[in-house]
Parts: sequence; C-alpha cells; structure tokens
Amino acid sequence: MEEIRVRIAPSPSGNLHIGTARTALFNYLYAKKTGGKFILRIEDTDAERTSQAYIDNIFDSLKALGLNWDEGPDVGGPYGPYTQSERFDIYPKYVQELLDKGFAYECFCTPEELEAEKEEATKNKKAYVYSKKCENLTEEEKAKLRAEGRKPAIRFSVEKAQKAFHDTPIVHFEDLVKGDLHQDTSLIGDFVIMKSNGSPTYNFAVVIDDMLMKINTVIRGEDHISNTFKQILIYEALGAEIPKFGHLGMILAPDRSKLSKRHGATAVSEFVERGYLTDALINFVALLGWSPSDGEEIKTVDEIAKDFRIHEVSSSNSIFEYDKLNWMNGQYIKKLELKDLAERLKPYLKKYDLNELTEEQYLHMVEITREPLTLLSDITDAVEYFFGEYPTIDKEVQETVLDTETSQTVLKEVLNRIDGWDFNNLHEILEEFRGYFKEQGIKPKLTMWAIRAAVTGRTRGADMCGILEILGKDKVKARIQKVVK
Ligand code: GLU
Repeated sequence: MEEIRVRIAPSPSGNLHIGTARTALFNYLYAKKTGGKFILRIEDTDAERTSQAYIDNIFDSLKALGLNWDEGPDVGGPYGPYTQSERFDIYPKYVQELLDKGFAYECFCTPEELEAEKEEATKNKKAYVYSKKCENLTEEEKAKLRAEGRKPAIRFSVEKAQKAFHDTPIVHFEDLVKGDLHQDTSLIGDFVIMKSNGSPTYNFAVVIDDMLMKINTVIRGEDHISNTFKQILIYEALGAEIPKFGHLGMILAPDRSKLSKRHGATAVSEFVERGYLTDALINFVALLGWSPSDGEEIKTVDEIAKDFRIHEVSSSNSIFEYDKLNWMNGQYIKKLELKDLAERLKPYLKKYDLNELTEEQYLHMVEITREPLTLLSDITDAVEYFFGEYPTIDKEVQETVLDTETSQTVLKEVLNRIDGWDFNNLHEILEEFRGYFKEQGIKPKLTMWAIRAAVTGRTRGADMCGILEILGKDKVKARIQKVVK
C-alpha cells in the first residue's frame, strides 16, 4: 500500500487553537497507525494576519503536545520549503497551466465593481456569485485595461472544469469520516486563485502544496467541506491525483456555541499557563471524536494510535466539557512522581520565595498539598500559608474560630506546652493533646480547628502534622502568639 502522507496546515494568525491541535492529533494518529508521514506546513499567505510570535507558538505547542512532525519547518524534507511565503515562486507556473488550459482567466474588476455586484445581489436577495464579466474578454480589451494600469487577479473557471470532468454540476466525493458528500458547483462562482498582487489564495495554494508534497490524505475540520469541492476541481484541471478527504465534526462549547474565550482557554499555550498538563490535554482532545475500543479513556498518544481507525471517528460535533478535562487533568496530576510534580509546580509558585524551604521541606509540602489539585495552578493558593511570617487570616475564620473562647483556651495551652514538644513526633503529641481537651468536653475537631486557623488562617487544608513540621517550632509559636489575646 502507498505510504500515507498527512499534514497539518495551520495559518499563523493566532496561537495554536485547541481545535487545530485536535486536527493535528488525528492526522498524527493516522500517520502513526499506518506507518506514514505527518507533515507540518505553515500557511502564511495572508501576510497581514501572520506574525512570527504565532509561528513560534504553533511550533512550541505542537512539540509540547508530542505531535512532532516528520517533515516541515525546522525539520525539512524532500518537498520543502514547508512555509507558504517561501514558496511564492512555485505557484505562478500552475496558474499559467490553468490559464493555458482555459480553466482560469484574468479578472480586471476593481474592488468597487465587485462591491457593486455584491450589493446588487443583496438587493435582489440572491446569493452572490461573480458575474464572470471578465471571462470572455478579448486580447484588445485586456490590453486596454492593462494600459489603464489595472493589474488582473486570476479566477478559476468553475463551470468549465465541472463540464470537463463531470456529467452534472453536482460533484461528489467519498469522505473518510462522513461518507458521500456532494455539492451543486453551479452555486460556487468563479473564485480568485491568485490576487492581483501575485499572492495565491488559500484554495489554490493548498492544492498546489498538497499535490507537490504528495499529501494523499487530508484530515481537517468540516468547516472546509465547501472548499473541498473547489479544490477537487483544481486537482482535476491540473490532471493531478485527488487525495482522500476526511472531515471532522466541530468542537463546540458546553452551551453548543462556537468555542471561544468566554468559555475558557482556547489556545494550547493558554491551557498550559492555566495549569493543564499537555498529556492530559492531548488525551482529552483525542476523545473529541474518537472512542477507545476497551472503554478505558485514559491513554497515552501511543496507545491511542494503536487503537485509532479513521473510519470510526465520529462525524458529529463534539462538546468540549471543561469539567471533564479538569477531572482528567487531576487524574494525570495524581499519577506524577512526587519529584516530577514538584518541578512542574515551580512556575506557579513564582510569587513565593522558595528559598524559605529546604528541598526536603519543599517536597514534603508538595506531598501533603497535592491531593486536591485539579490544575497545577491550584498550588498557588493551596500553599500560601507556608510562606512569609504570618498567614492571611480571613475575617470569617477570625470571628468564627479564633475569637471563640474554646480556641483561645486551646491555643494558650499550645503555648504552655510547645517548648517541650518534639517536632519529630508530632503525631503522638497532637493525639495526646486532643485527648486532653476531649476529657474536658472539647471535641477533637475543635482543638485542631483552633490550631489550623492560627497557623494557616484557614479551616481546612493539608495534613496538620505535616504543616507544623514544615513550618517548624519557631514559626508555629510566633503565629499562635500573634492570635492569642
Ligand atoms: N490553513 C488552513 C486553516 O488553518 C488549512 C486548512 C486545510 O487543512 O486545508 O484552516
């Protein structure tokens, strides 16, 4: 069988979107499953919307997700360059071929003329299609327009290509994901393949690049289905082999609208900043359209690749459940080795002076605070009281816990005894201490609340013995002294 060659072709007009990451993943999985090649191509023909920062973000995000490309920028490959702006010399030859074959023509219409056509269509409540005004210009007419200083764009002649290769205007293709798809090409209109400034448009450049890079399978979002019909006609007009296409359903927000910033993060780098692990993110994203045959959802990309069948990908839209992603992220955090987790948490602890703790104390702190973490960034708040002299005590804790007579009694008693406490043996000491108050009718829970509130400013949190051990006797004593009246 022919080697599968798939690609992801992001336009660098923003940071790598989670939807593009899903498309990249499905291409990657298909390549891995079949022993094929996964290619990256940067589609930056729209210079105004492109920026190097976005290109860097796309590279970094794909790498962080483990979606390493076999050919592309940075890596090279036999059919490069893989950045469209570096390929501008390549396209004119194919434009010329289409002109020579009569499948394309020069269009001299000005933006104003085209705008007027559009307005006319809107007025008549008709879908706009270009009038083909320039399709049959004579050489003299063209020369005259040129002499006026007009530079032509090149349009593709949809009807001519359709008539040359299809019996009816209804063009079909068999989609790998969605099955038979068709469109009435008489509704398409002659579209521009090269602008008057010489830059190719997406539908044209994508065909030339996919053809030259020998891409034989194109997996992308279903928002490109209408483009596919245009692209098929271009392939045919060039006498090139048409790749197989597979269109994925869209990713929607929980409210079924388009996923946007208002729902939460949308760019991969933004998820990472917010404390998601890329392993969890890529696992979660795989489930937007793919389901494991054994029902076990937590899997590495390698495991998913073994179980991946493009025909089984769901053709419907998927809902991006942030809650499920959070749950999954928590599961991945739980699986991390302590030292690995401790390292990964550091970027979220920049506001603290980590030098206040020894390496051993730091690891101990992570060990006792990791349990409830859903996001790595949850650590920022969870460990606040380990740093600085005194914790922030919120008003409610002050009033409902620290100001009570019981708490004051408990805390005074701690101060009476603390000098004699062996901080290496706190478990037994606290046990004994709780017992002492229990005999006086004070519930063990209240005893511990008083100490916790004084030392951490909170009523719940990590293991009490651990907190006291890490803070050490002096700090604990000072914090209690500060709240005792
Ligand atoms: N540059 C296009 C995009 O980002 C690529 C579409 C395609 O895969 O053909 O949407």
